[in-house]
Amino acid sequence: MATTHNLGFPRIGGKRELKFAEEAYWKGESSADELLTRGAELRRQNWQHQSGLGLVPVGDFSFYDHLLDTSFRLGNVPARVSKLDGSRLDNMFRVARGRSAGDDDANAVRAGEMTKWFDTNYHYIVPEVDADTAFTLDADDLLDQVAEAKAAGVTPKPVLVGPVTYLWLSKATDDSDRLALLDRLLPVYRELLDQLGQQGIDWVQLDEPVLVYDLDNAWKQAVQKAYDTLAGAAPKLMVTTYFGELADNIGLACNLPVAGLHADAVKGRDEVDRIVAALPEDKVLSLGVIDGRNIWKADLAGLLDWLEPIAENLGDRLWLAPSCSLLHVPVDLNSETKMDPEIKSWLAFALQKLGELEVLAGALNQGRDAVRQALDRNAEAIASRRASDRVDNPAVKQAARDITPDMGKRDSAYSERAEAQRQHLNLPAYPTTTIGSFPQTKEIRQARLKHRKGNLSREDYVAQMKAEIERSIREQEKLGLDVLVHGEPERNDMVEYFGEQLEGYVFSQHGWVQSFGSRCVKPPILYGDIKRPEPMTVDWIRYAQSLTDKPVKGMLTGPVTMLNWSFVRDDQPRSESCKQLALAIRQEVLDLEAAGVNVIQIDEAALREGLPLRRSQWQAYLDWAVESFRITANGVGDETQIHTHMCYSEFNDIIESIAHMDADVITIETSRSNMELLDVFDHFAYPNEIGPGVYDIHSPNIPAPDQVIDLMRKAAERIPRERLWINPDCGLKTRQWAEVSPALQNMVDAARSLRDKA
Ligand code: GLN
Ligand code: ZN
Repeated sequence: MATTHNLGFPRIGGKRELKFAEEAYWKGESSADELLTRGAELRRQNWQHQSGLGLVPVGDFSFYDHLLDTSFRLGNVPARVSKLDGSRLDNMFRVARGRSAGDDDANAVRAGEMTKWFDTNYHYIVPEVDADTAFTLDADDLLDQVAEAKAAGVTPKPVLVGPVTYLWLSKATDDSDRLALLDRLLPVYRELLDQLGQQGIDWVQLDEPVLVYDLDNAWKQAVQKAYDTLAGAAPKLMVTTYFGELADNIGLACNLPVAGLHADAVKGRDEVDRIVAALPEDKVLSLGVIDGRNIWKADLAGLLDWLEPIAENLGDRLWLAPSCSLLHVPVDLNSETKMDPEIKSWLAFALQKLGELEVLAGALNQGRDAVRQALDRNAEAIASRRASDRVDNPAVKQAARDITPDMGKRDSAYSERAEAQRQHLNLPAYPTTTIGSFPQTKEIRQARLKHRKGNLSREDYVAQMKAEIERSIREQEKLGLDVLVHGEPERNDMVEYFGEQLEGYVFSQHGWVQSFGSRCVKPPILYGDIKRPEPMTVDWIRYAQSLTDKPVKGMLTGPVTMLNWSFVRDDQPRSESCKQLALAIRQEVLDLEAAGVNVIQIDEAALREGLPLRRSQWQAYLDWAVESFRITANGVGDETQIHTHMCYSEFNDIIESIAHMDADVITIETSRSNMELLDVFDHFAYPNEIGPGVYDIHSPNIPAPDQVIDLMRKAAERIPRERLWINPDCGLKTRQWAEVSPALQNMVDAARSLRDKA
């Protein structure tokens, strides 16, 4: 009998109930009790949803982030917060956000650093450790949840971030060796496991996704040591890995002294045979067969063809699960009432994925006939997707095959282009610009909502957006900026806006996925070959340009970012979808150029985050990602200036690829690093122009002109001044005009003063 279980369920709620509950609490509109009650309700609901499974995760729920919860459970709370009065809930929010409900500025503390959870778009609060960190168990909340789950009638399987992954994801604030803490950490895990054992817990899931990385010996030994130490605990341990192949860690993972191993059989299906062969005969193998990172229906018949012999071989030792926690997919496809029914029939969100798991287990345990109807329906959907002419567009496929390297090459080298552009655009030294968006005011958002609901006509909506554009242009002229932007009032989101205008994309109404804390994203779904039926931005930019003699930048989202922030096709390589996006956006670039737009920015905010987990795969990704950008950008003439923007500045390992993009100007986020992050551009002798951000757009603070001058002096120590631009770190859509205007004024004043002193 194959057992089913789940590794984690989306905690935010199908209608983002948790988001709204916690935001109300932060604003002081509801009490802590109300929030805690809401959390308990959501947990109960989630367990009910999963009650058809053999084992149900407990401890996957979180009010902010499960890694932050882990830190609290291990007694590893930063001293700046642990010394404050207040409940655990409030202190947790203080670490997460710098403040909790009712905190005034005097009480605010520095928030913990936040970073991406492996290669997902989920972000966790980085645990802070140093050589003196001590751990003490403080996990009553988890024990309480175990009791709640039992009362809800499910078989709980507590989920913990494993000790090695916890240290791997921690940051030593004193640069000490994190691994040295393992000896102090393990007894606390052991104590927790023993307490769970006393509560009658049979299995505990210990997440060690660190096992899908290339590990050096010290980390491999840490994994061995950790589980040698935890082996004697009462509950059985399921070491759980996901997001990739175990590869050379198969031997290590299979031979740990634990009762079970979970492996990602979506990303790592090819190595499952090797795992089965390597796994000692007393161990359970949990195969993550349903994709926890994407929204497509699984091909159940195909999976069964593959699984049946494995099930025969493993018998009771086979468990089935999603590949990873379902945190990374939306909750319920049935909430989508407006989606195209044909495309909807190809999809599965979290609840539907659990249904698929039950069908698979039913077929393996009782024979396919026992679940015949469900299998037939699934086969129909799979066949409909395969045969659909809405997925396949032969002309698009042909165009992608016809791409030649020449299409990604500018006519002349940067130095010649720079000369042509200087004459054509007539820009001063230290030209000033912004990254694209201006404040998305309440009026703008309301107009869009009204228009979407049909309460504001297209003409009136466009007129209102044009008025907004005019106001932005006038303001920029008044401020004295050199290269203007239209301000992006008509865009809800930099990916959705373009996706909605491209064939091959579909949108959900409620397909929210937690990004961090209460913040969710609704990734568009890329289902078919990508075609641009008509120009997407030309009218807006042409209108903006008609209002001024200064150059206005056309503003586009690049192919790699479109791809990395979407749910993508699983029926063709990502690189193929990326090429199709590149061709579509290339047409837009050429249309903008033909419309007289001389400066075009192509944002690649998500290029870096697409890097694979294993370094050995980086170059292959960078090659096709950069090639896609080049195809998008580089079909223009010498006089047209291409900008790109990236919201980060750790270019250490990728500088060569960034240079190969060959954008005339790259704007990056650097203000908080004191320009030190430009060192890598300096060492590499990066040849083109750079706009290092001079102020942090995440903060309402207005930079003084001297601050900007100081930063630009530091920049000029690293990059020749002829190649420097002055701009903020990123777009300004989350700010207010009352902050934006004075900040930009100071920025422009600083630029003038730098020019005068030249
Ligand atoms: N052009 C976009 C903006 O200004 C860029 C956003 C981003 O880099 N995330 O909002
Ligand atoms: Zn940015």
